[in-house]
Amino acid sequence: MTNSTPESTVAPTPAASTPSNFLRDIIAEDVRTKKFGDAQIQTRFPPEPNGYLHIGHAKAICIDFGLADEFGGKTNLRFDDTNPEKEEQEYVDSIMKDVRWLGFEWDRLCYASDYFGQLFEWALQLVKTGKAYVDDLSADEIRQHRGTLTEPGTDSPYRNRSIEENLDLFLRMKQGEFPDGSRVLRAKIDMASPNLNMRDPVMYRILHATHQRTGDQWCIYPMYDFAHGQSDSSEHVTHSMCTLEFTDHQPLYRWFIEQLGIFPTQQIEFDRLNLTYTLLSKRKLLQLVNEKRVSGWDDPRMPTLSGIRRRGFTPEALRAFCAAIGISRTNGTTDIEMLEHYQRDDLNRRASRAMAVLHPLKLVIDNYPEGQEEFFETANNPEDSSAGTRMVPFSREIYIERDDFREVPPPKYHRLSPGKEVRLRNAYFVTAQSVVKAADGSIVEVHCTYDPASRGGNSPDGRKVKSTIHWVSAAHAISAEIRLYDKLFTKADPYDLEEGQDVLDNLNPNSLEVLLDAKLEPSLANAKVEQHIQFERVGYFCLDPDSTPEKKIFNRTLPLKDSWSKIENKAGA
Ligand code: ATP
Ligand code: MG
Repeated sequence: MTNSTPESTVAPTPAASTPSNFLRDIIAEDVRTKKFGDAQIQTRFPPEPNGYLHIGHAKAICIDFGLADEFGGKTNLRFDDTNPEKEEQEYVDSIMKDVRWLGFEWDRLCYASDYFGQLFEWALQLVKTGKAYVDDLSADEIRQHRGTLTEPGTDSPYRNRSIEENLDLFLRMKQGEFPDGSRVLRAKIDMASPNLNMRDPVMYRILHATHQRTGDQWCIYPMYDFAHGQSDSSEHVTHSMCTLEFTDHQPLYRWFIEQLGIFPTQQIEFDRLNLTYTLLSKRKLLQLVNEKRVSGWDDPRMPTLSGIRRRGFTPEALRAFCAAIGISRTNGTTDIEMLEHYQRDDLNRRASRAMAVLHPLKLVIDNYPEGQEEFFETANNPEDSSAGTRMVPFSREIYIERDDFREVPPPKYHRLSPGKEVRLRNAYFVTAQSVVKAADGSIVEVHCTYDPASRGGNSPDGRKVKSTIHWVSAAHAISAEIRLYDKLFTKADPYDLEEGQDVLDNLNPNSLEVLLDAKLEPSLANAKVEQHIQFERVGYFCLDPDSTPEKKIFNRTLPLKDSWSKIENKAGA
């Protein structure tokens, strides 16, 4: 759990096992009983603009927007901008971009800061009714007075100030008379409550900081708990879905709404998404960015929406994944392979195919006429005939993957080796004859012969070959940089640490491998960013925005092999 999410403050109760659609059931029941009268279903997605959105937020977005859509309701995007020290416009912009990219459009764009005036009025109202008081204790002293899960708290010596004195002090807090941290406004609830959140929680703090939207208008800022519920209520949010760590805050959420007599939003909690090999905490992700462990928030290894978008993930796959993981009332961890499975499934359908050789080895076809070229018509996507065909050039010298040739083949190796015949995809059968080696013994060229009768990839005499390999014509190839990504962390649980270690000690030192001189078929010169391409037999790739017309860079979204299917099949078997 990160420091940006509240720590647990009441002893845990055993959670009932629940159907995966309990949120939908609750809303359906509320519609049936007209709990909110004729009001439409209204939800909100409430990010704090203190970082970029990550895959966990995608789950929350799919729930907030998805459920409102299902019930003909609306969803607001609301920035929870109550903490001017950590929040920035860059984050606001990226969040809007990412929500839209995921495929959702908000109804109203709101900011908690829109309500600063109203929240202040509500705070005054609580002061005037004796439900809030100004406390001069320091933050440390307040913590000491708070008690523990087993011991009640103790009253602040300032708890019983008169309403007049509280009013005077609170107004002067607002007018900027007092330094940061010298006083707070607290709700007067119950210092002996079993729920620590109800032990006179802080409502306002003094902070002389410039806010990105309200400038220097305020030097007191509401705490999350005093802002969130009332913001929901102001927008007539019917169902306020949030993650389980807010369960212990719900009594306080309701207390403020009841005391103020305002629209009774219902808060409902669901499980946070956790993924193996992945950190989903804006604070930790910010650390990766600040310490330059990654190239930025949109580094393709990051679990941010901007990172996985750059990596080539699609909103369709993310939405399918979010639907598949379901919703629960207990936190668990999802295998990252499951996310990858949904992504492959989507890419398999939509990615156009191309041939690319990542580790090139030159193959010279000795009996193919020098200077000749020909073109093979090839389907762009065998899964989708509407994707059309393209012409792939072929010539005497081609590149194949280094891995597809062995001078001394191990048992069961069916690819190219001296004397062995294989199919060049869509082209001809070739038989390896000899190799040319460098002084250090490494193979620089393989010479072979081809069978002209096997044009298109089949021989008229019905001869079978055991292997089909891909290739790129050397004369026509374009060179490109390829970035191969692996998991960012070496451990399924990045927090699995030895004494004295930090989670960043579990970073995978090999999460990025750069290949500087891959050879690609020429059609890839026209690839566009966010176009999805399967390099046949290799994986799914997309053009990186760092590319220039002279230098193409491709990111590997995922290799082809789908370990999740295997896991699933094994589990089923
Ligand atoms: P982080 O812990 O990464 O900093 P946060 O909870 O502080 O995230 P917010 O900006 O407050 O981030 O989150 C906006 C919404 O997204 C909240 O309703 C929150 O409950 C939800 N959310 C955040 N992380 C996850 C997650 N891993 N799974 C599901 N929902 C999440
Ligand atoms: Mg938060």
